[in-house]
Amino acid sequence: MLGNMMEEPLLISAILEQAQENYPQAKVYSRVDGGIVEHSYEQLDQRSRCLAAYLQSSGVVAGERVASLAWNNHRHLELYYAVSGVGAVMHTINPRLYRDQVRYIFNHGEAEWLFIEPDFLPLLQEIEAELPWLRHIVVLAPNLAAEQAADSRYVAYEQLLASSEPLIPWPSFDENSAACLCYTSGTTGDPKGVLYSHRSTVLHAMASVAPNALNISADSVVMPVVPMYHVCAWGVPYSALLAGATLALPGSGMAGEALYELIEHTQATLLLGVPTVWLGLLQYLEGSGATIDSVETIGVGGAAAPPMLIKALERHGIYLMPIWGMTETSPLVSYGSSTKVLQAMPAEERQTLQATAGRGGFGVRLGLFGDDDRPLPRDGKTRGNLRVKGHWVLSNYFRQPGSALIDGWFDTGDVATLDAAGYLRIVDRKKDVIKSGGEWISSIDLENAALDHPQVLEACVIGARHLKWDERPLLLVVLKEGGKLDKAAITALMADKLAKWWLPDDIVAVESLPHTATGKLLKRDLRTRYRDYLLS
Ligand code: ADP
Repeated sequence: MLGNMMEEPLLISAILEQAQENYPQAKVYSRVDGGIVEHSYEQLDQRSRCLAAYLQSSGVVAGERVASLAWNNHRHLELYYAVSGVGAVMHTINPRLYRDQVRYIFNHGEAEWLFIEPDFLPLLQEIEAELPWLRHIVVLAPNLAAEQAADSRYVAYEQLLASSEPLIPWPSFDENSAACLCYTSGTTGDPKGVLYSHRSTVLHAMASVAPNALNISADSVVMPVVPMYHVCAWGVPYSALLAGATLALPGSGMAGEALYELIEHTQATLLLGVPTVWLGLLQYLEGSGATIDSVETIGVGGAAAPPMLIKALERHGIYLMPIWGMTETSPLVSYGSSTKVLQAMPAEERQTLQATAGRGGFGVRLGLFGDDDRPLPRDGKTRGNLRVKGHWVLSNYFRQPGSALIDGWFDTGDVATLDAAGYLRIVDRKKDVIKSGGEWISSIDLENAALDHPQVLEACVIGARHLKWDERPLLLVVLKEGGKLDKAAITALMADKLAKWWLPDDIVAVESLPHTATGKLLKRDLRTRYRDYLLS
């Protein structure tokens, strides 16, 4: 027998609709056009509806991809709601990728419409001749510059909005319709498209506002420093509105001082981003003596949170909440939220838990499997392949034949442990783990230990070829300004925390380390360069 309840499709437009009805005066702050501007949810709703009407009257149809090359600001947010709201697909493109990847992603999505920040017009000019699908270019600005004004394909965003009336009501359709297309960073091969649905996006947003997750409410002021051009800024454009929170969108201002200014201006309480961003903010705070007293929590994901960052934020009275996820999982899956039990622990024990990837919650299950596909125990020791399944995990890549799953699970490519209390610890990316004499060494653990040395600004460990052990760890470090490489001191510090046979065979000081477009260490190039370093 079926229940007797209403069946309403879970649509993204319903998030905006309820936000506007229940929290009309909640605010969205944006760094844009050289300043910080402010809009209410009510204004955001009206502007998104005008854009939606414009898209519909311009012939944009359901399922059609609409591309963006844009920063985190209110215009990009309006685009998120308007494009998905009319049943089209928001196709976000990461401008920090290599030129060829941007071109590949654009053409793979076959978008005729591009909404672009003035900052990225030079990038467009470089690849424009190779974009056969592109027909309409909307510049996210009040007006067009003279060069574009002469070209009929261009229109200015604010003029477009001014010429349109709000779309009422939002159309209704199947909740499994595609809503947003996002590509992986493509550290191996071409980037792969992950096509989120309305249903997966709404469920992900509902789950992520919960107290055990991001803990977002109408009291929160949320500042996603994770970009809206990669994995929908961890879904914050949806979750913040769902909870009636204030949003602080940093635009292109990701450096320490600009972040500080926006935090102060908005009294931000929750910040989200990859570890490197917070190192920049801390450097600014320590150099200027400024404080950010409004901030309660910084959610850190995309890469492991180094213990030194946990401690440094604690000195500023901020709780570092570890988060794990990936493009294929929308991305949020596990959180190390602060609990009473955690706060009552001795600092070292608490910080150890903060250095895990937290715990899962309802909606996505975590599992550990051996290379033979057999499930492994959750004993906090056994390392295995991390697999996930749930409402916001992909089942196959966009335009790639076949399922991306193994026995109904998605294999993340991460090696991890799970303990009896549910805590997930990422040992390493499977391709980054160092295989020394048949045993595994975690490059993440070595890097974190090296970062505790006061002279080390950045650390990267790769597996270099070794005649006896196949592979041994090689540590590359970027030193702080004026720092001198003291191999013995770094090794001694690492030996306090790690087994002796894990310690790197050698340490090399480098000027800088390469990063991916999402701020992670790009180990592939370093492996090629230093593969034979220990053989010489
Ligand atoms: P891409 O897959 O395109 O490189 P993602 O942003 O999807 O980019 O990255 C996902 C990967 O980032 C995970 O598989 C994992 O290896 C790493 N990662 C994310 N969060 C954490 C974390 N808290 N600790 C360790 N690694 C993490």
